[in-house]
Amino acid sequence: MKDNKPVWHECYFGGAFNPIHYGHIEAALEAQNTLRKPVVLLPSGNPPHKQNLIPFIHRYKMCELVAQHYNFKVSKAEQGTTPTPTINTLRNLVPDFENYLVPFLVGTDSIQNLHTWIEPDALSKNVLWVVAPRGNAPIENPKLKLNVLTLKSPPIDVSATMIRQLVQKRDYNTLKKYLPDYVLDYIIQLRLYHE
Ligand code: ATP
Repeated sequence: MKDNKPVWHECYFGGAFNPIHYGHIEAALEAQNTLRKPVVLLPSGNPPHKQNLIPFIHRYKMCELVAQHYNFKVSKAEQGTTPTPTINTLRNLVPDFENYLVPFLVGTDSIQNLHTWIEPDALSKNVLWVVAPRGNAPIENPKLKLNVLTLKSPPIDVSATMIRQLVQKRDYNTLKKYLPDYVLDYIIQLRLYHE
């Protein structure tokens, strides 16, 4: 790690969570156990440019069901229709953000495009990137000098896109492998993603 800044007492986990699945859950559990700090799920808002996102409230509620089960926290910090760059969210959540190294959980695929996020230099300096392996992409970004903590858990080959496709096919048996029953029940009861 570059600096001797104290590490912030929570680990944030941003995502569309459209819907949340075992790839997210296993990564969050591993981060919580490795860091010994609570993980806070941060479902993204509904900015107009994002396609295929069901309303925030449903994605939030599914995260809340998971959070209750696994002792995570869940935050409404990104609720709304205005785009919320991660740097703004973290500055809002962490007083004196610049004085901490703030754990933020991502999959390897997100590390690959971090240089395209708003204020990549501030993010590089002040974030401890807790990385969950996903696919075969390298766990580094050649364009940035990052503080990285790589999780040891094996990759779980699932995406929210895959889940939405399985719901459209009504393949509930396969879906049970990829997300908890209570999340699947919520999806079925509200007929989310069915069309
Ligand atoms: P979509 O298929 O709709 O693009 P997604 O499954 O990639 O969605 P997101 O909510 O966009 O899920 O991801 C939020 C974060 O969780 C990202 O940092 C992503 O890399 C990570 N993530 C998602 N799925 C996995 C997985 N199977 N293993 C590890 N990390 C994951």
